[in-house]
Amino acid sequence: MRSILLDRPPPRRRDPGRTLLAVSAERTNWAGNLTYGATRVHTPSSVEELQDLVARTRRIRALGSRHSFSDVADTTGELVSVAELPPRVEVDAAARTVTVAAGLRYGDLAEELHRQGWALHNLGSLPHISVAGAVATATHGSGDGNGNLATAVAGLQLVRADGELVTLRRDEPDFAGAVVALGGLGVVVAVTLDVVPAFDVRQVVYDDLPLDTVAERFDEIFAAAYSVSVFTDWAGTTRSWVKHRVEDGDGWTPDPAWMGARLADGPRNPVPGMPALNCTEQLGVAGPWYDRLPHFRLGFTPSSGEELQSEFLVARDHAVEAFGAVAKLADRIAPVLQVCEVRTVAGDDLWLSSSYGRGVAGLHFTWTKDPEGVRPVLAEIERALAPYDARPHWGKLFTVDPAQVRERYPRLADFRRLRGEYDPDGRFGNAFLHRYLG
Ligand SMILES: Cc1cc2nc3c(=O)[nH]c(=O)nc-3n(C[C@H](O)[C@H](O)[C@H](O)COP(=O)(O)OP(=O)(O)OC[C@H]3O[C@@H](n4cnc5c(N)ncnc54)[C@H](O)[C@@H]3O)c2cc1C
Repeated sequence: MRSILLDRPPPRRRDPGRTLLAVSAERTNWAGNLTYGATRVHTPSSVEELQDLVARTRRIRALGSRHSFSDVADTTGELVSVAELPPRVEVDAAARTVTVAAGLRYGDLAEELHRQGWALHNLGSLPHISVAGAVATATHGSGDGNGNLATAVAGLQLVRADGELVTLRRDEPDFAGAVVALGGLGVVVAVTLDVVPAFDVRQVVYDDLPLDTVAERFDEIFAAAYSVSVFTDWAGTTRSWVKHRVEDGDGWTPDPAWMGARLADGPRNPVPGMPALNCTEQLGVAGPWYDRLPHFRLGFTPSSGEELQSEFLVARDHAVEAFGAVAKLADRIAPVLQVCEVRTVAGDDLWLSSSYGRGVAGLHFTWTKDPEGVRPVLAEIERALAPYDARPHWGKLFTVDPAQVRERYPRLADFRRLRGEYDPDGRFGNAFLHRYLG
């Protein structure tokens, strides 16, 4: 097991496979807006080592690929990453599932799945995140009919606070409470996901979608394809990413104009002004699901790389009103914004999911890396969205009053009971869980 002490200068190349840069980067999250308060990061190489570590450590939390902007993964105790547990991708073709090592990145899993003829139903905007970390915060892509990535989970194996390895399956009571668990129930070592036969996708981008049309024809726009995202900088640039599944014999060609927008004449980056080089192929060229559903390619920096993010998920019934409420703040938002993305997600039954009990529209903000400038604007957006019961994305930045957050999760009391069973001494607790879950 590798253990890195974080309260001393990082050692020089303790592990020949790791650079000094990689070691020191483990002190901060991907965006660099958070320095973890943990004293050590452990990377066990076997489940047995992990069980022993958990059982003897007073405060410990699982760390994924560090892509959360919030302090959801942080702790003043110790962190443990499952990224170096033996890699595992085991397809059960009869059950249509794959069991994977929890620390695997979606991009790596997807390529192997595709090689074997299978696919996941959806992916987030980037393939760089770990499966366990994404599932733990209800990470989502887009698509009226697509649940978030956690809805594909059919089973979990996790190490509980007492070091026991526990297996949970979808048909068991409380399973729906254990999937989106914010790291609060244990350290997940393996995840079983539903798979579907591999499919191809074509994506096209439309320039200059009128904002009025987004509000007037919201449902039509998001029902137009398997996955649709609308990006706007609230300062004149609005584009939409439209991703169609290619079914056998599909003779689809994109309309040159759609909803008042024009078909883009070249590849685009969702962030205005950024090069399209790091984006998955567009212009209607068919390609494998894993190389079209994310906006960004695995080998490159996703998004702009220098950013903060926030996102609020509102019930579909309120989507147009919520979009209108944000539009009224356009002049306040634009100066500190890189881009805003609007997506849709199907409802689910996972207790702490941002789409629990309702289909949602996600109003996402990629901010400039200016926390002081962003904070007051974020608070204004939160006030504007309060009447719509907006649930903040657990992994992104928000300042909503914790009591209000708690009110927006009807199964919170059930989750607290579950935590009491899995982690009676609060071994996996942290300030974030204390704040928002009580
Ligand atoms: C550039 C960028 C683009 C993004 N795009 C999207 C998007 O398209 N859609 C979206 O919804 N979100 C998006 N996000 C947010 C991101 O998907 C979430 O924050 C996600 O949780 C990050 O996963 P991670 O592996 O980095 O986990 P971390 O941030 O390291 O941890 C997140 C949570 O997972 C828990 N966790 C991690 N591993 C385990 C484990 N083995 N067992 C138990 N708990 C564990 C941690 O304790 C913590 O509570 C994006 C983030 C970035 C930086």
